[in-house]
Amino acid sequence: MTNRNYHLVIVGYGGMGSYHGKLLKENQNINVVGTYDILEERRAASLADGYKVYESLAAVLADDSVDFVLIATPNDVHKEIAVAALNAKKHVICEKPVTIYSEELIEIMQAAKMNDRAFIVHQNRRWDEDFLTIKKVYDDLIIGDVFHIESRVQGANGIPGDWRHQKAYGGGMLLDWGVHLLDQLLFMIDSKITSVYANLSYILGNEVDDGFQVFITFENGITSLVEVGTTNFIQLPRWYAKGTTGTAVIHDWDINGKIVKQNRGVEVEAPKPIKAGQGLTKTMAPPSEKAVSTSDLPKVDKTMESFYDNVISLVEGKAEPIIKNEEVLRVLQLMETIFKSAETNEVVKDFDRVMDGKILF
Ligand code: NAD
Repeated sequence: MTNRNYHLVIVGYGGMGSYHGKLLKENQNINVVGTYDILEERRAASLADGYKVYESLAAVLADDSVDFVLIATPNDVHKEIAVAALNAKKHVICEKPVTIYSEELIEIMQAAKMNDRAFIVHQNRRWDEDFLTIKKVYDDLIIGDVFHIESRVQGANGIPGDWRHQKAYGGGMLLDWGVHLLDQLLFMIDSKITSVYANLSYILGNEVDDGFQVFITFENGITSLVEVGTTNFIQLPRWYAKGTTGTAVIHDWDINGKIVKQNRGVEVEAPKPIKAGQGLTKTMAPPSEKAVSTSDLPKVDKTMESFYDNVISLVEGKAEPIIKNEEVLRVLQLMETIFKSAETNEVVKDFDRVMDGKILF
């Protein structure tokens, strides 16, 4: 039986706010009772979609029947709305990037603790099938111990939207897409970061980055490259991982890709030299047929508790959050480090050791 006993108001009824509205239509526990947006046209859209329109944030916060505030505004106002909502004893779900600066998140975490209310960031790409697939390859040692991993998203359409072009709103691709890819990487690799080196691109002439590359090294020896581009007319694979016994590639969000593994214990012929440009090579020749086997990517378990179900389990004290605020904070601090590395053109060493002290409050 449907028992939608939690009332939620969406603050910021733009692209993502309305998407949450659609997703929550199917939810058994949460009822979207209204929205608040500063723009008249978005209020009209909310009314057309059947939601009550609140006249101000204060009106939302004064409504005792509201349990949750979901923040889907541009990034610069996440903190002030979150802190006000927590102080009004609401639980808060917030879009990513949670804030522009890590100090703002620390303030929010303090407000959540003080008011004994839940604060959860919508890092929804932890549920993406491409990510769960590479995570399974990694966790189950399908290509042996992974020692290098590359995660990329590349488009050819420039920076999207309007406010994403401006620094003051928390624009730029590091904050927009980088936060997802870095969150996935740090969620997958349970090891301290030893070095960070990054460059940001400004090819399109905006005041914010239109892409970036960051090289991250972990204490367990894994090296990684995370890359976002908005001027790529040809795309490289979404994921590429090298392990001690094989290589995995995932080309796209439809999970096209493969695993190629070295055959152990089989006597194989040495590769035959091939003509390579103006020379010959044996080193770069394809392995002989018996030397490797190709297989499909593993299937992933899709029964993981959904984002919203986990939110409800959390507020009812039945589960730990899948997305922990301390993890979100680490990603924000990593992005600050990436900006620093790109600005100074320097490798930042011992990221986690330096940051540890700041996480505690
Ligand atoms: P958008 O511009 O489409 O919508 C933002 C809405 O917020 C607009 O309607 C605007 O009028 C409203 N708004 C601005 N300031 C406000 C305020 N002070 N109070 C109330 N409403 C206000 O932007 P979007 O693409 O929907 O992005 C919104 C947030 O969602 C951003 O933080 C973005 O990073 C995030 N987002 C997340 C995902 C994801 O996959 N998790 C995808 C897209 C966007």
